[in-house]
Amino acid sequence: MKDSNRHKGMRRRLIRSLEKKGITNQEVLEAIGSIPRHFFLDNAFEEHAYEDKAFPIDAEQTISQPYTVAIQSSLLDVKKREKVLEIGTGSGYQASVLAYLGARLYTVERHEELYKKAQTIFKSLGLGGIRSFYGDGYKGLGEFAPFDKILVTAAASNIPDTLKQQLKIGGRLVIPVGSKSMQTMVRITRIDETSYQEENYGDFRFVPMLDGKNPLKNI
Ligand code: SAH
Repeated sequence: MKDSNRHKGMRRRLIRSLEKKGITNQEVLEAIGSIPRHFFLDNAFEEHAYEDKAFPIDAEQTISQPYTVAIQSSLLDVKKREKVLEIGTGSGYQASVLAYLGARLYTVERHEELYKKAQTIFKSLGLGGIRSFYGDGYKGLGEFAPFDKILVTAAASNIPDTLKQQLKIGGRLVIPVGSKSMQTMVRITRIDETSYQEENYGDFRFVPMLDGKNPLKNI
């Protein structure tokens, strides 16, 4: 896969459209302007990769809309060297944006085929430092906890306690919570051992967060 000047031009237009939609975080805009989103999509979607839309990926999942990636990344407010956990690797695009922002990134995916494909792309982009795992995100990653930030990129019906427990004091969890058809973006800050502060940031629509691992199909 190549990243041509034409792709770069399309990315610049995407950045301008995100600015018009109210995204102001310059680091986040720069990251989205740098990561080649067309690498994360099937060839058939290459011409559409820089439209502000979600697209289908393997295993009946989706790559998030750039606006959603921008909002989640801005709410997470990643600082360089912070330890960040993402639940729902999917295409690996959001993970790459967070790694570009300087996160020490851990990402978990329940579909083995997506986990494998994302790993290949991380390597080809020189983002081999991203640590990816095939597993159930409801469990978090206890052996690497606590995290400065945790991002969930699938719709949860409630806020998993396990993930709250894996936050550092002062750490943040960004998660879309709600029904299958609509979720509210929630940001939770861990105040101390037992208390958390919660803020809401508008409506979004994600694929569902599901229990357990889903193995690679034998085709
Ligand atoms: N961050 C992704 C968005 C992918 S969609 C991107 O940038 O492309 C959400 C992903 O979450 C899907 O791939 C889905 O398989 C995964 N997912 C859902 N429930 C999960 C769970 N319990 N653990 C890990 N991943 C999960």
